[in-house]
Amino acid sequence: FQKLREGLSRSSRELSGSIAGVFTKRKLDENTLQDLEDVLIRADLGMETAMRVTDALASGRYGKDVSDLEVRTIMAQEVEKVLKPVALPLELDLSVKPHVILVVGVNGTGKTTTIGKLAAKLTAGGLKVMLAAGDTFRAAAIEQLKIWGERTGSPVVATKLGADAAGLAWDAFEKAKAAGSDVLIIDTAGRLQNKTELMAELEKIVRVLNKLDPDAPHTVLQTVDATTGQNALNQVEIFRNIAGVNGLVMTKLDGTARGGILVAIAAKHKLPVYFIGVGEQVDDLEPFSASEFAKAIAG
Ligand code: GDP
Repeated sequence: FQKLREGLSRSSRELSGSIAGVFTKRKLDENTLQDLEDVLIRADLGMETAMRVTDALASGRYGKDVSDLEVRTIMAQEVEKVLKPVALPLELDLSVKPHVILVVGVNGTGKTTTIGKLAAKLTAGGLKVMLAAGDTFRAAAIEQLKIWGERTGSPVVATKLGADAAGLAWDAFEKAKAAGSDVLIIDTAGRLQNKTELMAELEKIVRVLNKLDPDAPHTVLQTVDATTGQNALNQVEIFRNIAGVNGLVMTKLDGTARGGILVAIAAKHKLPVYFIGVGEQVDDLEPFSASEFAKAIAG
């Protein structure tokens, strides 16, 4: 929790400062409510949540003096309500092995790093994990994944640069099955510059996995970089459509002033947020807690 608080301190500082600016000795009226709504929207929380907060505040307190502390308390409560339904643990169905986790997202959002951190968590929990270097376009991505494989004691299936990613996924599944792996985590390319190609590639990977196990990929996890702000909303939309994303990891919540975007994404997409990334180190992946996040961002 401490790490999240520190990480979100920029977001919460700016938010608290702006809220304090609105509520210096001012009554709760149309103007202050409008100003507050603007502040919340500027903090990336989204229109829906901004209105929830102002509505909750207005009911019972309209026309009265309110302190910025009161405002932040109400904000934390409302944000928690928005986040609660999406704060779910990642549950692995290990009745059929391997449980396949396909990791998608725009390049640079933290796919490879998150895979490494997740592999560390799962192996620490006693599971056998295999990794597949499905971003066959970037040599650095393959190398990074190999490093994470070594670090976490997870075998890495890789091919040469430019090879067919779906073929690699097939190969990795067979290897994971033969090795008795509990979990297979597949990295993918995230070249959003060429959407048609990306779509074809991800669809092919999903189709191939589907043939091997009708329920695979069991989890399609998207990494979303908090520092991208409003753009993140579109990224989720795109990958949801292309790859059937059914869970999110919000990365780089450490040090960003744009942490509020997680709330907007939760309100809009209602996808489970399984983990949050709060740094580059192996243990900087935390389960997502609605109340902790709400408290941290409200300051
Ligand atoms: P990919 O291209 O999607 O695979 O992204 P990478 O995993 O290579 O990550 C891109 C950069 O972001 C690397 O420098 C990572 O160390 C960094 N990164 C990933 N997750 C986090 C995080 O939660 N916090 C911070 N501060 N950096 C992160």
